[in-house]
Amino acid sequence: MNNAAQELRERLNTITDMHIAIGLLHWDQQTYMPKGGIAMRAETIATLSNIAHRMSTDTDMLRMIDAVSDRFDTDTDDGALARLARRNFERATRLPAELVTDLARTTALAEPAWVEARSRGEWNTFAPHLFRIVELQKQVADSYGYTTHPYDALLDEYEPGATKAQLETMFDELKHAIVPLVRDITAKSDSATERARPLYNSFDEAKQEAFGRDVITRFGYDWNCGRQDLTVHPFCISFTSRDVRITTRFDKDFLQPALFSTMHEAGHAMYEQGINPTYARTPLGSGVSMGVHESQSRLWENLVGRSRAFWTYFYPRLQSVFPDAIGDVDFETFYRAVNTVAPSLIRVEADEVTYNLHTLLRFEIEVALLDGTLTIAELPEAWNAKMKEYLGVAPTSEADGALQDIHWSGGMFAYFPTYTIGNVLAVQLFDAAMTAHPTIMDEAARGEFTSLHSWLTSNIYQFGSKYEPQDLIERATGSRLNTAPYIRYLREKFGELYEL
Ligand code: ZN
Repeated sequence: MNNAAQELRERLNTITDMHIAIGLLHWDQQTYMPKGGIAMRAETIATLSNIAHRMSTDTDMLRMIDAVSDRFDTDTDDGALARLARRNFERATRLPAELVTDLARTTALAEPAWVEARSRGEWNTFAPHLFRIVELQKQVADSYGYTTHPYDALLDEYEPGATKAQLETMFDELKHAIVPLVRDITAKSDSATERARPLYNSFDEAKQEAFGRDVITRFGYDWNCGRQDLTVHPFCISFTSRDVRITTRFDKDFLQPALFSTMHEAGHAMYEQGINPTYARTPLGSGVSMGVHESQSRLWENLVGRSRAFWTYFYPRLQSVFPDAIGDVDFETFYRAVNTVAPSLIRVEADEVTYNLHTLLRFEIEVALLDGTLTIAELPEAWNAKMKEYLGVAPTSEADGALQDIHWSGGMFAYFPTYTIGNVLAVQLFDAAMTAHPTIMDEAARGEFTSLHSWLTSNIYQFGSKYEPQDLIERATGSRLNTAPYIRYLREKFGELYEL
């Protein structure tokens, strides 16, 4: 390694250490911090963020990046590091300080206003905040710059390289396949409530926890470099690949949330744990994009955790843990229960089939807000009309409609589509893994997941952020984002489940 590369690495180590410390403060705040600590904690985080921001954007930094880019191709680790550092530098320096402050202040006020508006189902309480946020998002997009649409500039934050035009194609293909599939299922099926009933009963929380731990241990989650704690909203957080933590929550009357969110977060965590350890404490040492990250959580949660093979091994074990609740529920009934399709109002409760219609709706609304073709006042009505069109249901209160998600109040625009990118990529990657190891599902039926875990490690995990997201996917699967395998998967799986 030459001196320029060494110098850049050391600077990036220091900055990444700062972000790791900030992450740990956030983790502590969500898990064990006493309530009284909130205000001071915010100050500490702001101080560290400021130092990290200054170190990331000074002229010295640019000099180091230039020195390394001149010498190393982006295919090398050092070249990739310089590319990422330049990207971060440009994004951080293009936003005027005034706009950053304005955004922070606006979202700080918008979040509590959203909480209040949601609890009362009152759109007008939140509307002026959202108006301000949309105006600021337009300014952010202008500052970053774009060639065709402001959405591209915002999307680049979460899914580098993806564009609004690509998302439109993706959603268009999905819409044409999924809307009729949902209609067929709804027309055909017995009551969804009846179908999902085995999941509602009394399930001791400690036993749920032990079962979930067993599942993700078998998947390959490394407890020596991880731990699980309780939070209101489950998440995964990484402080280098050697310490990747997950959280969950339990509902003693409903089996589904803890079990599947544990698999989901473990999917995120195994990705982070599998990254090349030499990338630790640099921007290379984390997952490459929100969409690719989500593909890893969805793959384990849905492709594995909602498969027949998985339950062939785990269902008898689950029955022996909860004999009173499901002892006399047969395999097929249980398998159908965990794969219940029910058009519902709430995105986070949506099943595999209907989920993408929730993100499609949000994508269309975000684009229209940025275009100026939809006003904030018209938004709830547009929301309800789209719900009716895509899912056949519409909310009676905005709390279950346009007010249900926290994202917009935090200034997160163009984030929702990454959930669907994740769903689509999950199937592409799973198919590629199956081609390489056709016995993956036979192994799953024996409670073994080594072939799948090691394929993901070799083809996705290890690279961290070294390659652009779409390049990574092409290297692993032979093609870029492609909806065809996902649509085929949905039709086959749910066609069989619903006898279509
Ligand atoms: Zn996730």
